Amino acid sequence: MSDVFQGSFTQQEPIPDDGIEAALNVLRHGRLHRYNVADGEVAETALLEEEFAAYMGAKYCLAVASGGYALATSLRALGVAPGEKVLTNAFTLAPVPGAIASVGAVPVFVGVNEGLVIDLDDLAAKIAVTGARILMLSHMRGHLCDMDALMALCNEAGVQVVEDCAHTMGARWNGVLSGRHGVMACYSTQTYKHMNSGEGGLLISDDADLMARAVVLSGSYMLYARHRAAPPPEAFEDIRYVTPNVSGRMDNLRAAILRPQLRSLDSQCAAWNDRYRMVEDGLRNTPGLTLVVRPKAEAFVASSYQFLLLDWTDTAVGDVIDRCAARGVELKWFGGAEPTGFTSRYDSWRYAPTERMPATDRVLKGIVDMRLPLTFSLDDCAQIARIVREEVSAVYQAA
Ligand SMILES: *Cc1c(COP(=O)(O)O)cnc(C)c1O
Repeated sequence: MSDVFQGSFTQQEPIPDDGIEAALNVLRHGRLHRYNVADGEVAETALLEEEFAAYMGAKYCLAVASGGYALATSLRALGVAPGEKVLTNAFTLAPVPGAIASVGAVPVFVGVNEGLVIDLDDLAAKIAVTGARILMLSHMRGHLCDMDALMALCNEAGVQVVEDCAHTMGARWNGVLSGRHGVMACYSTQTYKHMNSGEGGLLISDDADLMARAVVLSGSYMLYARHRAAPPPEAFEDIRYVTPNVSGRMDNLRAAILRPQLRSLDSQCAAWNDRYRMVEDGLRNTPGLTLVVRPKAEAFVASSYQFLLLDWTDTAVGDVIDRCAARGVELKWFGGAEPTGFTSRYDSWRYAPTERMPATDRVLKGIVDMRLPLTFSLDDCAQIARIVREEVSAVYQAA
């Protein structure tokens, strides 16, 4: 009998001991609300914002309840109006078009290419036909497009870019951190991302007016002076009475868990990339299987792995998924006819009807994905690659 992988694709590492310690400290004093502080105390949430802003080299940071909340807040801060068209990726996760829909705006989907990044020609075409002024750019599965070319295109067209960095916390394009190209950038600290607080989000920007609005939107009441990574009080003068409270704050318990994780983010990402490279090496030169080429300018931070079965029949891809599952390897097929467990492609979001995009459909139909939690050893990754390679080869040769 061929080998079977025994690990769990959904089991992340435990919270580090210093995170548990910090969480217990918050639980013991009971001041979980971010604005509930003792005399002279600085809230964990305010400290996290300060530290994340420093890590990103951003002027301002706001911690919120989720990544999706951060995305919606950035659109509200930018004054997106009901009915307004907002550009976004055809290949992303449901909270991205969901954030656009949540403010009454209309997502307009831009195609994906074989590098699993936004198709810049389609972007140019859709900017031209829609006249949209905002692109919510999702770095889905950690793949960065040519950010220099994208920013040149958007700047030229007067399109503002909000970055969805749920999968690129700490990644860089040509040395520039992901999230530092657009006017605002959003991160998630949900369990499957690079830092884990169960739920949570972070929003960064250098724009004082937008961030003042975001702080008030998040539910700061008139306590924004207790932030340490918020704009100065002057930035709030004109907006504080005209900006609604759409509560979505982060609490001190989550912030306490996240601060130690931020300190080890770089080494954690290096460990993720080792696992990614192990799988990639094991899958190289598998007949019928297309690797996703990672550009030289991209310093990615992996947390999952993708490959393409381009132009395969549905039955053949389904066979690969089933045969790998029987050997303990849980693959997700983004191209499956019916979404299972999650949605990640434009035709699943029927509240925003879209004409078919054939070149994009071809790519989406071929994307196979797996999570690579840090609980996997490098040997685990080699075994996973071996199993996938054997099953892809077997089905390919039979076809
Ligand atoms: C997880 C995720 C988000 C935000 O998700 P939340 O669960 O709201 O924190 C946004 N975009 C992508 C691509 C994601 O995977």
